[in-house]
Amino acid sequence: MKYNFGAGPCILPQEVFQQAAQAVLDFNGLSILEVSHRHKDFVAVMDEAISLVKKALHVPDNYEVIFLQGGATLGFTITALTLMRETKKAGYINTGTWASGAIKEARKVGVDVDVFASSEDQKFNYIPKGYQCPKEVDYIHFTSNNTIYGTQFKDFPKTDSPLACDMSSDIFSRKVDVSQFGLIYAGAQKNLGPAGATLYIVRKDLLGKSTSPFLPTYLDLTQHAAKESMLNTPPVFSVYVAMLNLRHLLAHGGVEAIEKENRAKADLLYSEIDSNPLFSGAVAREDRSDMNVTFRLNNEQLKDAFDNAWKGADIVGLPGHRSTGGYRASMYNALPLSSVQVLVDVMHDFTKKHG
Ligand SMILES: *Cc1c(COP(=O)(O)O)cnc(C)c1O
Repeated sequence: MKYNFGAGPCILPQEVFQQAAQAVLDFNGLSILEVSHRHKDFVAVMDEAISLVKKALHVPDNYEVIFLQGGATLGFTITALTLMRETKKAGYINTGTWASGAIKEARKVGVDVDVFASSEDQKFNYIPKGYQCPKEVDYIHFTSNNTIYGTQFKDFPKTDSPLACDMSSDIFSRKVDVSQFGLIYAGAQKNLGPAGATLYIVRKDLLGKSTSPFLPTYLDLTQHAAKESMLNTPPVFSVYVAMLNLRHLLAHGGVEAIEKENRAKADLLYSEIDSNPLFSGAVAREDRSDMNVTFRLNNEQLKDAFDNAWKGADIVGLPGHRSTGGYRASMYNALPLSSVQVLVDVMHDFTKKHG
């Protein structure tokens, strides 16, 4: 087996892979791939997936949990359409590619976007601080974990407006107080399950109030909530495997326990980066992500030698995003501490030889 540090689709627990494989062959006498989404056995899966999301994140009763398709990319549009009101104004924090994507899509559907905080001046290698959220806006939007750069909000924006968040790459990795948010969305494939499903958690009182003149049925969360994520054919397999993964998470102590493990994994790798003279962290220390650890070789001439070293140790998925270069170790929930130790050992041995 390889050690998968890829940024997404994510690693999942072996047990979940096995259960998923089994259900492809036999899900109550059919394959999970052929079962009708209206069959009571799948309706039970959807219900359980929704209830496990609520349990894992302690979602208050005044929120809807919805599974859709379209990825976080469609979430950019759905968020803007759901939360736009008379003023059609919103405040966005720009922390990189995904945040910029959300801004672009909101503007396309007619939102007047105020980018009131940005880290573009430093190539997005930090999280903006000391900003004031604009008042008199329909909502405030930010991206909790910046998958590409390896930065993560440790404190969330303070605002009286509904707070919207793209949590694609750190949802279920740490505790969050859902009641601070109006709307959370996340593509499944970064920490929840296979690609294909997208999770929305939305406060009920925010539904049905869109002022958009353009609201296709599929983009209307109110209708999806009313139909309990069964308005049309849901991504059956993706929801099934996400449900299995949530069962696994809750059976192992839930978000509270995995947060501690994720912290330990991040501490292990960041302390190697900080103590090893051949490497440097790529972003501001206080904003470092526990999910996506980005770092660089101080001497680019050692690149081929280092690439051979980690590849030789059966590590995959380590190159940084094509827009940033360097390295990125994505350490989603299912990546064990022992895999991080393998990478740390490679870096350590490499420095003995080349340092
Ligand atoms: C990957 C990612 C996206 C894009 O997700 P898709 O599901 O591919 O649309 C958006 N936001 C963040 C934070 C991501 O990590």
